Amino acid sequence: MLIQSLFIVLATCMASFVNLCAYRLGQGQSPLSPHRSYCEHCRRELSWWQLLPILGYLFQVGRCRFCRQAINPYWPLSEAGCGLLMFCCSGTGILHNALVLIFLMTLLFIATTDLLYQVLYPLSLLGLTPLAGLLPDWHWLALSDILIGTCFLILIGLLTLPRHGMGSGDLMYLAVIFFFFGWYQGALLLLSACLLILPCFALARASIRLPFLPALCLATILVLLFSP
Ligand SMILES: [Zn+2]
Repeated sequence: MLIQSLFIVLATCMASFVNLCAYRLGQGQSPLSPHRSYCEHCRRELSWWQLLPILGYLFQVGRCRFCRQAINPYWPLSEAGCGLLMFCCSGTGILHNALVLIFLMTLLFIATTDLLYQVLYPLSLLGLTPLAGLLPDWHWLALSDILIGTCFLILIGLLTLPRHGMGSGDLMYLAVIFFFFGWYQGALLLLSACLLILPCFALARASIRLPFLPALCLATILVLLFSP
């Protein structure tokens, strides 16, 4: 229980850092410079208590202490979400928990960079490799699975890329997912992501391009948690 609690706290703290990295990379800044985090509206440096995951947002009642601008609720919600998912997926083994942590942080980074800047850093897909240890019966794919998966991806690409329905980043992510989950569960995951993003299409204006990777990342978690 102690190990689980430590990893849950670690997940919320690392989620805060991963969000910072995703935000700064899109701004062309290094994650380490400037050294102190700052308000994205007034650029004032934040105190240590303002940086506390989730609590910093609650202490400030959702508004920057200096300029009173609303803080993006995505930051505390994603930190809390990572803590909750760590709670759901963690066990007693340190190695298992470390794999879950790397996997969750990778999904958060991918979802955040797509949400903020509609970009996927291909190297970040390497962070999905812990799936090989987390999926109970993972094995290298048979040639037939690879062929079916490739045909499926090409078909999706031909149908969606010319209409800008999905981006090349979405397809790259799906290719990695198909590699680990197989084409059948991968297709299930894609269907789940489509269902998750459907209400957003109904609410959003037609001119807005919705990022799909956050829905794919969320669907990955759901398939991992609930598929038999
Ligand atoms: Zn401010």
